[in-house]
Amino acid sequence: MKFKEAVTYDDMLLVPQYSDITSRSEVNISSWLKDTEYQLPIIASPMDTVSEVEMIVAMDKAGGLGVLHRYNTVDEQLRLANEALARGVSSFAVAVGVTGDYLERAEVLVGAGVETLCIDVAHGHHILMKHALTTLRKKFGDKIAIVAGNVCTLEGVNDLADWGADAVRANIGGGSICSTRIVTGHGLPGLQTIFDCARTDRNVKIIADGGIKTSGDIVKALAAGADFVMCGSLLAGTTESPGKVITMADGSRMKEYRGMASKDAQMSWRSRSSTPEGVASYIPYKGGVEDILCDLEGGIRSGFSYTGARTIGQLHHKAQWSLQTPAGTVESGTHILTAQDGRKK
Ligand code: IMP
Repeated sequence: MKFKEAVTYDDMLLVPQYSDITSRSEVNISSWLKDTEYQLPIIASPMDTVSEVEMIVAMDKAGGLGVLHRYNTVDEQLRLANEALARGVSSFAVAVGVTGDYLERAEVLVGAGVETLCIDVAHGHHILMKHALTTLRKKFGDKIAIVAGNVCTLEGVNDLADWGADAVRANIGGGSICSTRIVTGHGLPGLQTIFDCARTDRNVKIIADGGIKTSGDIVKALAAGADFVMCGSLLAGTTESPGKVITMADGSRMKEYRGMASKDAQMSWRSRSSTPEGVASYIPYKGGVEDILCDLEGGIRSGFSYTGARTIGQLHHKAQWSLQTPAGTVESGTHILTAQDGRKK
């Protein structure tokens, strides 16, 4: 039996190369989605504990893109979209599904001035995606940008591009709160997904979605061929993510972060739950998202300079990869001895 070998973010490292970049400011990390250039290639996940108006405003300010989630009524989604528009953000996206009221949502939101739609389903290489994507593209023509997904194969990217997607979210089962691989046995390691999907010859952008833990992972995703990354857990637990800060018994401050296919999330948005493919959790409260994005941006710029790349295109072209052994992966993390393991103070 032949099977595919596949690597994920922690399996691989970029090999440092000669660099003539003397300042991080020489690096341009901007990326295009249809007619819009984003200065920061980071997109906030369409999840109800990540992206509503405050996150959309903050992402816009930082040069990235926020996606308004779809786990609400059409009226509520329109109210939130109008609020974002009233606060002067035009470059945000709004998520819709592939069944039920998706067409009504899209019509109402595009009518209100939304210019980017995100067709947001777990298994995007699917006949229902084909129907929704071709329907929306036919309805709105070229006047809107359409992000679609998720897929994890080259065939998936090519089909979604042929059905009308401008950008495709790539990765199945790699999200931090995702249990799809456990529940269904399906998926593909996240970095391999990008290597595979980026081989597309279609005019389509690749969004590395889920499993991004650090700025180093963002650099790896872009070097493997992604045009953007989409982040949930990295941006959750911030002042701008929806939900309250909860003080735990031990005094620690946390915010909820949950998969949209978790039992918890399903119960709140549709009052019933089918087999969950995600989990609900609390993550430490991290303060304002601006600081998080600023640190990520600095890490990304530094990463580009280690390869000697001034743009995402150059990074992709110049990147040299090495496979890490499990011991290498341990060495790559901080591994200072604790007082107990090492010399007593
Ligand atoms: P993270 O950045 O690793 O936390 O992953 C966020 C991504 O996980 C999102 O952008 C979605 O693609 C995906 N996702 C969100 N909710 C669920 C779920 O309940 N199950 C599986 N994947 C999910």
